[in-house]
Amino acid sequence: MTTTEIIRRDDAHVLHTYNRSPLALVSGQGMYAADAEGRRYLDFTSGIGVNSLGYCHPAWVAAVTKQAATLQHTSNLYYTQPCGALAEALCARTGLDAVFFGNSGAEANEGAIKAARKYSVDTYGAHRSKVITLVNSFHGRTLATLTATGQEVFHHDFGPFPQNFAYVPAGDFAALQAAADADTSAVMLELVQGEGGVVALEQEYVRSIAEFCKARDILLIVDEVQTGIGRTGTFLACEQFDLQPDIVTLAKGLGGGLPIGAFAMTRRVAEHMGPGSHGSTFGGNPVACAGALAVLDTLDAACLQNVQACAARLRTGLAQLPHVAEVSGLGLMVGVAFADGVSAAAVRAAAEQRGLLVLTAKTRLRLLPPLILTDADVDSALATLRDVLKEI
Ligand SMILES: *Cc1c(COP(=O)(O)O)cnc(C)c1O
Repeated sequence: MTTTEIIRRDDAHVLHTYNRSPLALVSGQGMYAADAEGRRYLDFTSGIGVNSLGYCHPAWVAAVTKQAATLQHTSNLYYTQPCGALAEALCARTGLDAVFFGNSGAEANEGAIKAARKYSVDTYGAHRSKVITLVNSFHGRTLATLTATGQEVFHHDFGPFPQNFAYVPAGDFAALQAAADADTSAVMLELVQGEGGVVALEQEYVRSIAEFCKARDILLIVDEVQTGIGRTGTFLACEQFDLQPDIVTLAKGLGGGLPIGAFAMTRRVAEHMGPGSHGSTFGGNPVACAGALAVLDTLDAACLQNVQACAARLRTGLAQLPHVAEVSGLGLMVGVAFADGVSAAAVRAAAEQRGLLVLTAKTRLRLLPPLILTDADVDSALATLRDVLKEI
């Protein structure tokens, strides 16, 4: 099929909820995707932070195909090997004690909110259900996670919403102190607001929140759906903030391209989530877990070192490009703000024309390259962006 044919059929039958590029991708290998006409694109999007090992990494393909040919699904009525192995590996790498597997970031956050409320309601009474999130946050599209998302633009026309959510501006610790009352069960935040424009929180602000929450037994939920799994240069972004939250949520990069989400928690929280308290038909699926295990195995110290080195090279190079006002974010979660009225959307479209896939977040250009990139990939992306910015 040609690109035109693929697009026409999709537009005729798939709900029009996405602003798609006029691009139909049919295959990928490493850092590159190819469209229906065989044109290659250097991919600095990772499918929005999902393809952490790039396209069709050999270790990931081997693990997934082997598991698919062995046992593809059982339901959670039975035990399987990959689910337990992945949970064990995640606990070892996060310092947390128990994991629940779902299928997406929104589900991970939905589960985290449930677990936080369960702990607080069991411990302090039914009134203690309030969840505080940050203005400009993004936590998902289900009704509860949409409510948790501190952006009015997503809320229009979808109410009524679940109750007892409050929003405070990121960076304003006094506002959080004022919003936290005796009914507050949890604070949920992203350490780098991704969809909100690739904005990292201040270390001192995060430290203040952590201390404040700990003193009041308000649970701290860190949404690492986008920042987690090596994206920022450490396995969790929490490590760079010296943070030990009660609950961490993961999804995007975890499965290397297969749908999987997870929330990991301390034993104290886990003890309240007994049989029947939560569930997911597909959660802990053996094929998705086998893929995630291959991601974790590949994401060793050397791989994280590569993330840090390439991130530094990319950030230095971006700061030197024409019209660049600011380079934001952390590690390989990169935002670029432009000066001189340059539009990130126009840069994104022009880069695509030149064979480089990038994203936008709010008014910024956003780069989320696979974690297996090399210096040569960084230089190639920078060269394309320089050409685009010289002409724009
Ligand atoms: C993408 C994202 C989500 C939602 O994940 P889905 O898999 O789309 O449900 C939640 N939180 C953050 C921080 C995200 O970046």
